[in-house]
Amino acid sequence: MITVLCGGVGAARLLSLLEREAREFKFTAVVNVADDLVLHGLTICPDLDTVTYTLAKINNEVMGWGLVDETWRVNKELEKLGGQAWFQLGDRDMATHLYRSQRLAEGATKTEVARELAAHHKVGLPILPVTDEHVATYLETDIGELSFQEYFVKHRHNVPVYKITFRGIEEATPTNEVMAALSTSERIIIAPSNPLLSIAPVLAVPGVRELLQTRRESIAAVSPLIGGRALKGPADHLMSELGFEPSSYGVAAYYGDLVGHWFIDEVDIDQAEKIEGLGVSVTVLPTIMAEPTSASALAQGILSWLS
Ligand code: GDP
Ligand code: CA
Repeated sequence: MITVLCGGVGAARLLSLLEREAREFKFTAVVNVADDLVLHGLTICPDLDTVTYTLAKINNEVMGWGLVDETWRVNKELEKLGGQAWFQLGDRDMATHLYRSQRLAEGATKTEVARELAAHHKVGLPILPVTDEHVATYLETDIGELSFQEYFVKHRHNVPVYKITFRGIEEATPTNEVMAALSTSERIIIAPSNPLLSIAPVLAVPGVRELLQTRRESIAAVSPLIGGRALKGPADHLMSELGFEPSSYGVAAYYGDLVGHWFIDEVDIDQAEKIEGLGVSVTVLPTIMAEPTSASALAQGILSWLS
């Protein structure tokens, strides 16, 4: 069994690749919940839903989030009412948030709801929120403090960030399922998700980083930056804004001694030696998963590390 630490899109792509090309292994996803929000009284878990929808092959490739074959009638009415319509919820997607919110109100945990949704969508691998407790990302920016979705969606991550905090994280506990997965899996992979927004709040749940620190030789990571750029989202400029080099080396230095092996893109071949200087081994290979030949090269590279 292999556990993958996950944010949203970068992780969802890696999981579906591994599920397809590394069939001899069983994977478990441990997913960020610091992007979660309550809107219109509904609890919305964007990264859990992205992972679930992608593995179920019902994710919306065009939008980059939400469900395929979506309509927007509710959101349009909401906009006419002067409601909070900037966080666009599709009509079909809404059913997920209604279902989750009702189940939580009945006393179910996020873990239980994630399991129910995965079962409904016939997703075979366990999708585990890192914690059942409420944690929320806030960002200090030029225009004041923003919640994660205000920053990411409303302002399209176009404002400089000074500081990121994960409210509630010190009081949060990882679920038993997560701790069991992290301690019993043979290997752990950190997905090419945003290090500062997606992976940091997974590692920061008390107990997670401490457990991983005992398993360095079993942990590999795939760099989310290719030639210093994120394929999607603000990972590259956030790294610079918060004082880290926006490169595969910068991400490797940021994770430090947590990771024993790195997969970096072939365009970053000149950084391999510098990353090895951090005391880790490195595989240089194509890592763009939207391109089939590049995706299978990445899968082969990961498979040979796993075997
Ligand atoms: P979000 O939660 O949906 O914003 O997504 P994540 O945090 O999981 O991932 C965002 C990161 O995934 C970005 O920094 C992208 O560069 C990275 N990413 C997305 N697709 C790929 C890919 O095919 N290859 C690599 N190496 N990184 C990717
Ligand atoms: Ca996310």
